[in-house]
Amino acid sequence: MLGEGVGSCIPAIEARSVVKSFPGGAVALDHVSIDIRPNEFFTLLGPSGCGKTTLLRLIAGFEQPTAGEIYLDGERIEHLPPFRRPINTVFQSYALFPHMTVGQNIAFGLEMQGIAKAEIARRVAEMLALVKLEGFEGRKADQMSGGQQQRVALARALANKPKVLLLDEPLSALDLKLRKEMQFELKRLQTETGITFVFVTHDQEEALTMSDRIAVMSAGRVLQVGAPRDIYENPEHRFVADFIGETDFLDAMVEASDDAGVRYRLSSGAFIDGPPQDFNAGASVALSTRPERLHLGDAAGDGLAGTIDAVVYFGTDTTFHVALDGGAGSIRVREQNIAGKPFPFDRGDRVTIQMPRAAVRAFRDF
Ligand code: ATP
Repeated sequence: MLGEGVGSCIPAIEARSVVKSFPGGAVALDHVSIDIRPNEFFTLLGPSGCGKTTLLRLIAGFEQPTAGEIYLDGERIEHLPPFRRPINTVFQSYALFPHMTVGQNIAFGLEMQGIAKAEIARRVAEMLALVKLEGFEGRKADQMSGGQQQRVALARALANKPKVLLLDEPLSALDLKLRKEMQFELKRLQTETGITFVFVTHDQEEALTMSDRIAVMSAGRVLQVGAPRDIYENPEHRFVADFIGETDFLDAMVEASDDAGVRYRLSSGAFIDGPPQDFNAGASVALSTRPERLHLGDAAGDGLAGTIDAVVYFGTDTTFHVALDGGAGSIRVREQNIAGKPFPFDRGDRVTIQMPRAAVRAFRDF
């Protein structure tokens, strides 16, 4: 059947070369193309102002694209007003009716659709169970905590069983502990309902832990789409490497490059070897390293030589900031702590940095 099986899967949402510019010249979306698969938890990730909310509002129908097309299950939807799209949105602000009860808030949209009372009661009970708020049906919305209100907002948005749920930074008003709980809850809700979730966040950790796939956005463009591991391990742009996880960059020149790998030369003259990448000798690159992929050795060891200029203890691990010899730059090395075994390195110590080839990646875009 059409739409089933991996090869023939019609996207739940497809944006094709979507442009959105606002009066005054701001281009919020610059030819954005993405496919969001049915039943996936898809995240739009990027810094403030990169266009995440604008893309969500176009999918919801609150805004019209300046150019390009938007499809739902293979049908164009730009001409449909928001209420004609089988899509709901959950906002950071909850947007509940404060003086209505929890039950009335959840039932509101269903009543508007003229659904029979008995069916509404059944759905409200089902939704309350889904978001784990059984027993709160008669409570006024403004007498609920922030986390509970967000659950009510989710129950309300899921009650009419939309095909797609859009979530615009829904957890950012919650404190850290509650946010972590709700991250887990949201993922569970998505898995249990099978509804396609499109989630907006600027928090990379939130995106990595919750998503099936992530679209990393910058300045109105989608730079890379992939599974969390893919994005983290194989960033295709310097921006993506920098935005996701911890990364240090060193200026380098490609000394030699072949099928076996690339040799880079730092400004100090020191060499670093990396896996094969498509560079010509002489190219200027930004070399990136992840602190957790590197290890410290003593001054007599193999590797890049430098001096520790800061040590930061985190409990689970310790980060050493190392100034490389010859002014080649500064990079961090993160080592896991072992109880009762402090590292034999301190501020001011001479060290070497072991850099496995797989830990090295270079970018042309500065
Ligand atoms: P944030 O995380 O801060 O919400 P965002 O990634 O969601 O940011 P958008 O809100 O989509 O970014 O904004 C993208 C760009 O479009 C910004 O430069 C913003 O100023 C501009 N913009 C958004 N809405 C409008 C509008 N109604 N009129 C003019 N410019 C707008």
